[in-house]
Amino acid sequence: MSDNQLAAAVDKRRTFAIISHPDAGKTTITEQLLLFGGVVREAGTVKARKSGNFAKSDWMEIEQKRGISVTSSVMQFDYQGKRINILDTPGHEDFSEDTYRTLMAVDSAVMVIDSAKGIEPQTKKLFQICKMRGIPIFTFMNKLDRDGREPLDLIAELEDVLGIEGYPMNWPIGMGKELKGLYDRYHHRVALYRKDAEGRQYLPLNDDGDLAVASDLADDGLYTEARDSMEMIEEAGNPFDADKIASGDQTPVFFGSALANFGVQTFLETYLEYAPKPAEHKTADGDREIQPTDPEFSGFVFKIQANMNPNHRDRIAFVRICSGEFDRGMDVIQERTGKKLRLSNVTEFMADTRENVETAVAGDIIGLYDTGNFQIGDAIYTGKPAVKFEKLPQFTPELFVRVSAKNVMKQKSFHKGINQLVQEGAVQLYTAYTTGDYILGAVGQLQFEVFQFRMQNEYNSEVIMEPMGKKTARWINPDQLDERMSSSRNLLVKDSQGNPLFLFENRFAERWFQDKYPDVELTAKL
Ligand code: GDP
Repeated sequence: MSDNQLAAAVDKRRTFAIISHPDAGKTTITEQLLLFGGVVREAGTVKARKSGNFAKSDWMEIEQKRGISVTSSVMQFDYQGKRINILDTPGHEDFSEDTYRTLMAVDSAVMVIDSAKGIEPQTKKLFQICKMRGIPIFTFMNKLDRDGREPLDLIAELEDVLGIEGYPMNWPIGMGKELKGLYDRYHHRVALYRKDAEGRQYLPLNDDGDLAVASDLADDGLYTEARDSMEMIEEAGNPFDADKIASGDQTPVFFGSALANFGVQTFLETYLEYAPKPAEHKTADGDREIQPTDPEFSGFVFKIQANMNPNHRDRIAFVRICSGEFDRGMDVIQERTGKKLRLSNVTEFMADTRENVETAVAGDIIGLYDTGNFQIGDAIYTGKPAVKFEKLPQFTPELFVRVSAKNVMKQKSFHKGINQLVQEGAVQLYTAYTTGDYILGAVGQLQFEVFQFRMQNEYNSEVIMEPMGKKTARWINPDQLDERMSSSRNLLVKDSQGNPLFLFENRFAERWFQDKYPDVELTAKL
């Protein structure tokens, strides 16, 4: 590929994740987007990934059948000349650090909100990661075909709860059974929910923002209400600001119904106008920026998905390509080890098949079959100098368990398993100061269950896990640490790098500690 071809290919890439709280409609909207992309799938491919009752056994079974969850982790399709990569972020019970890390590999995010519920906890958590990265966020207020909250309320909530300005691109005309359409100020038209008697789907607006054609809608109170709201927002609301959108300080808001496929296509098309192409990536020492159009290849591992089937020990390391072009069979250097690796067994992701990838460029995701060589955060590259990216952030766990080997004679496999799974980023490991007990931390319960299952299946090590419940983890400056600060309400532990931290019973315990030791600095790592 010539430099120009590479630049043109990179220019077409749009890589994003959809974030939402369970049941807001992420699966439904994803399926719609895939349909627009003309991706032919078995019915319910995306659906199979989630199930209302996502018990551990279901998940294991899905994993064992392989394919389904992996292929739906990354979905790729072409639309209007763009190559779109959607990365799945499970917002469900399998919510884990993987979900957070996936957001490190995207250039923008789509936030789906149930318009009857507004901003829910999982959305908020995922939003905060996007905010930290400063990536553009586009909002889809879903389920307009149902009675929901006041649109104005929903917009205000974005600012109040998330601290991001909302810029409504369109405005609902009615809601629920009364839904008539969308007043679309951005496209200067009204999109009708149901075609009118003349078979029209769209009615143009004139420069004053009034209907430019004769329609019964002009006399409809719901229409005038929407029109007035939009006018008021035009005058008093936040002005459209492309820079703020780019930095994640303003979010364009679209209303619609994923289920009724209303407003989704407009959303997709407008989104593609503003969604950024692949961005540059900073190197660890901060003195270089890797441009996506750099001819040398580079990328990093943001997720490792292990096969739960003990007969096939392979895992897939998901790599976000940051620069250059991937070619089948190419040799790369793994930065951490300095080893040369040949990338021959690689997969790209279509919605229903795992196709062998021939070429992929910056912005794309490739899956490397891995026999245990890779760790989360690993960089791979070609050429010189070596490429080391900024460290992926570690996420503060909220749930903890004490873990031990059931059979004390099998300490060796127990330690081996724990070390490997911790390296892989499956869970985080802490050691209690006084007792030396092993404590695992996670952001989602499923991480523990997978850990336990894999210890048994892959390392033949049966583990006992004693739930400790939710804790507030706070790191302390080692110079300020006095082991006597540990009490019954906090547990002093070390993280895997040996840094001390307290696991507080709750916020109250933390406050009590702070009152007692006002000079001690406690930090919550994100
Ligand atoms: P996810 O958990 O965010 O992936 O949500 P789903 O896409 O599975 O949707 C959750 C439920 O809401 C399902 O029963 C969907 O059929 C329903 N749903 C999704 N979008 C809409 C919508 O626009 N209107 C209505 N009425 N229901 C919707």
